[in-house]
Amino acid sequence: MSALNIPKSSFPRVIIIGGGFAGVALAKELSKKEVQVVLLDKNNYHTFQPLLYQVATGGLEPDSIAYPIRKILQDYPNFFFRLANVLEVKTEEKQLETNIGTVKYDYLVMATGAETNFFGNKEIEENGMVMKSIPESLNLRSLILENFEQALLTDDLHQRDALMNFVIVGGGPTGVELAGALAEIKKGILPKDYPDLDTRRAEINLVQSGDRILKEMSDKASKKAEDFLEELGVHVWKNTRVLSYDGKVATTKTDLSFECATLIWAAGVKGASIKGLDAQELLVRGNRLKVNEFNQVVGHDHIFAIGDVAGMITEKTPSGHPMMAQPAIQQGKNLGFNLVRLLENKPLKPFVYNDKGSMATVGRNKAVVDLENYKFQGVFAWFVWMFVHLFFLIGFRNRVIVFINWVYNYVRFDREARLIIRPYQRDYDRFR
Ligand SMILES: Cc1cc2nc3c(=O)[nH]c(=O)nc-3n(C[C@H](O)[C@H](O)[C@H](O)COP(=O)(O)OP(=O)(O)OC[C@H]3O[C@@H](n4cnc5c(N)ncnc54)[C@H](O)[C@@H]3O)c2cc1C
Repeated sequence: MSALNIPKSSFPRVIIIGGGFAGVALAKELSKKEVQVVLLDKNNYHTFQPLLYQVATGGLEPDSIAYPIRKILQDYPNFFFRLANVLEVKTEEKQLETNIGTVKYDYLVMATGAETNFFGNKEIEENGMVMKSIPESLNLRSLILENFEQALLTDDLHQRDALMNFVIVGGGPTGVELAGALAEIKKGILPKDYPDLDTRRAEINLVQSGDRILKEMSDKASKKAEDFLEELGVHVWKNTRVLSYDGKVATTKTDLSFECATLIWAAGVKGASIKGLDAQELLVRGNRLKVNEFNQVVGHDHIFAIGDVAGMITEKTPSGHPMMAQPAIQQGKNLGFNLVRLLENKPLKPFVYNDKGSMATVGRNKAVVDLENYKFQGVFAWFVWMFVHLFFLIGFRNRVIVFINWVYNYVRFDREARLIIRPYQRDYDRFR
């Protein structure tokens, strides 16, 4: 046995850091091959991030968008999972430092994904809410509900409005989906749950620094999503950059400011690098590891990066591939194929992204879909969105549960997981 209690093997050891879309796709591809695969993740589950906003807004239980990593690969004899937070990569020694010990690799794959980027704004980092993980989504769910409970207790209209004012920064898919879900809660659930509170005064503000929302999608999708949001009563503020948020007031570059108890930061992500692989010369824009067309980290023949953390800069992708599930899955599969070729001394296959399109939902019967030759919006797009998300969720049980929840929510106009299971400790005194 070696460090982390992983048996010695005659096969080369490939360590994958991260059991997200990219890491799992790679591990599946490798697990029946003549390599020892060690997957390390700080969580023992895979998170289906595209549905985090539904957890945050009580539409789905957290368990239904998570899946145990061990179960995904339990049938593969050369596969080892360790619950570990990787702290440092020692490239000279081909060794990792983790919170549970050190471990050696023959090949290392960084599949660590992305983390929230506050662009250095410490105040927003301290006071804003984010939604990159299940615990963060649960924090947000609790805070949203706690705000209404607090709003009910105060006679001061000014305070009450601030407690019911939600500011979402960032008009990408996450911001749009969250704004739509909050607007639906305001319309369908709050009046029934809080008959003694004037919830019509609740406000959902979506603030975007650029001149359109969903800027990665077509003009048509972006325009239609904005129409959908406005139909739902969301205030969409374009060309507005949020500058600060002290936990009470959010200021912007213009005269506009918001007094709000909740500011949700969905305005940026950056690659999740690890000490030892974080030198400036290894990184491209967005803190992503600079890789060649085989996902090999520049200057490191035995280290690869895939998914959100990989920055593959080519003529076609001057900013790297989109930080989305499909590039991550496809890079994982391609690297699996290439690692076997590498061990057989065969030429490697360059990664070519097969762009299957993009989509976002705004709410019930409202979604936008951009395929290469076909762009559509509305009810059909919404069904396509649901089908695609169900299809890509890992685990049969999860698919069944999510499907049942969605049917129930649709028929009953409801979101029953609006529970404060783990209260979010917010200092409400500042609103008094
Ligand atoms: C709210 C939200 C909504 C999204 N919606 C969509 C969508 O609709 N469509 C779409 O295509 N994409 C969407 N995305 C983006 C998509 O989820 C990511 O592009 C995708 O998850 C990237 O996959 P990955 O494998 O690179 O990283 P991830 O899936 O993020 O996985 C990274 C893994 O690495 C682990 N890890 C990180 N650092 C360490 C460490 N030091 N030690 C141990 N483990 C570590 C993490 O625990 C995690 O399990 C969304 C993302 C978010 C946050």
